[in-house]
Amino acid sequence: MELPPHLDEKFRELMGRYPVKRSALVPMMLYAQDHFGFLGDEILEEIATRLDLNKIEVEETLAYYSMLRRKPAGRYHIQVCTNISCMLRGGHELYAHVQKRLGIGHKEVSPSGTFSLEEVECIGACTGAPSLQVNYDFYENLDPDKVDALLEQLEQGKKPQPVPVTSGSLHERLPAETLVISKRFGIRDSRRMDVYLAHEGYQALEKALKQMTPDQIIEEVKKSNLRGRGGAGFPAGMKWSFVPKETNKPKYILANADESEPGTCKDRPLMEMDPHQLIEGIVIAGRAVSANQGYIYIRGEYRYLIDIMDQAIAEAYGRGYLGKDILSSGFDFELSTHTGAGAYECGEESALMESLEGKRGYPRIKPPFPAVVGLYHCPTVINNAETLSTVPAVIRMGGEAYANLGTPRNGGTRLYSISGHVNRPGIYELPLGFPLRRLIEEVAGGIRGGKKLKAVIPGGSSCPLLSAEEIDLPMDFDSLAKAGSMLGSGGTVIMDEDTCMVDVARRIMHFYAHESCGWCIPCREGTSWLRKMLDRFHEGEGRAEDIPLIDELAKNMLGRTFCPLGDAAALPTISIVQKWRNEFEDHLRGKCSYQAADALAAAP
Ligand code: SF4
Repeated sequence: MELPPHLDEKFRELMGRYPVKRSALVPMMLYAQDHFGFLGDEILEEIATRLDLNKIEVEETLAYYSMLRRKPAGRYHIQVCTNISCMLRGGHELYAHVQKRLGIGHKEVSPSGTFSLEEVECIGACTGAPSLQVNYDFYENLDPDKVDALLEQLEQGKKPQPVPVTSGSLHERLPAETLVISKRFGIRDSRRMDVYLAHEGYQALEKALKQMTPDQIIEEVKKSNLRGRGGAGFPAGMKWSFVPKETNKPKYILANADESEPGTCKDRPLMEMDPHQLIEGIVIAGRAVSANQGYIYIRGEYRYLIDIMDQAIAEAYGRGYLGKDILSSGFDFELSTHTGAGAYECGEESALMESLEGKRGYPRIKPPFPAVVGLYHCPTVINNAETLSTVPAVIRMGGEAYANLGTPRNGGTRLYSISGHVNRPGIYELPLGFPLRRLIEEVAGGIRGGKKLKAVIPGGSSCPLLSAEEIDLPMDFDSLAKAGSMLGSGGTVIMDEDTCMVDVARRIMHFYAHESCGWCIPCREGTSWLRKMLDRFHEGEGRAEDIPLIDELAKNMLGRTFCPLGDAAALPTISIVQKWRNEFEDHLRGKCSYQAADALAAAP
């Protein structure tokens, strides 16, 4: 098949990025789809031939990723998010409005071929909810009028201005914030190398390469008490120390920027506004464990960030911060981006590595852990993008000084993406241990419309929810764990008194049932049955015996699955059914707190 020159060139470039050709499979399919609008037989044959694969292997991988399609979409593919943060701010209503306006349903194409529509899971625009994407462009803080104006412009062939800067991340900085990794947000052209260099950029790398040994770097990171910002909270320095020193195998650094946990969109501004900070952190990590190759795995929906990171990587190569003999230190490091294609499960570290190897994102059985057997079965450090973005500050300030910004065992600061029913949703950098009550009332400006607080998801949709009575606690890994929840990914979702908790449980379960890879039975069947039961409550057909059954079924999933997705689905469900059981009982009587609120508002 003859390819257009730009696609042929892209394919060749992608195939050159990896030691194993198959790794280029998912990116090749996504870029081909961008050109052809869908993945037909001919292009799949072509990709298979170039990668020495069978077409069946290509199709089998394709079927796993929700962004890849075998049928054409419209010229403008409208993807409306209805996941938790968008749902709380009218995502379902917005989706219904778009359906009506375009006269098409989920995964349908308009007769003219101009539009196609899809109701999608979290697109990482939680602080700008409700939001949608047109192809790869983000539009946020929408309402029906804004959507009408947007669609009208598209119909006329105009391209409306997307949201290139994450909503809320450029808010006025608050006195409560401690700016370490977000301090360059809002500086003009902050993503450019010259601006980065003028604001302490690459000083830490110079120090790490010229004044420190690899062991000293690891010690400094250990001293900083920097714990993984992706959700698990595992100490980063400790993780690095597990990488074997004596090995003939290549070693890899992977930055996990697949952020897909509903409520979480903090890696987005980090890459958008400070890509060099992440690059610097990755190279320092490489030096610490003597790895010479890295990849930044970025979720496919964040295409504009892949372009930004690619540009920053090219700048870093041009100025000698990547490549051979970095800063004349004798240390070499190669770095590339890698695109995902729509699979939450690929945020799990071993699934991410499978995906990067060009396969379905099924998790691996552990042990062995990635530090010993990781990408291409070689020692691999995999850290969240925020964790790695923090490393330059740790090296610059010194581990102890960084640790002292937080609480004992919970060093430093972290980014919170605060969404839901608050006056000031946005991205905020706060020290570990910051009180949750102040985060809601002071930082996020309190509950919208003067309403009362009902519930909080402290760190992404997989966390057990806290009630309004449980918010007097510091936001750190240990305090949240003690309170029966988790700090997670820092995606804090706030719900007001009118929120229907049955709907919250149902929406969360729809997400996990959709994202379950189906490999293990408790997760595959558990999420599916829980979704069915919660749907019944939503439709007014709940049964009294379902209430304890939901609790029991979810508990039976805990600890019985290959990867944490089973627990992630079960934990919020258990907390909701236990703390807001009365709302499930109300639904048995045909009542819902939304309806109750409407009735109250309508009362004379
Ligand atoms: Fe797949 Fe769910 Fe099992 Fe994870 S827990 S391996 S997502 S089926």
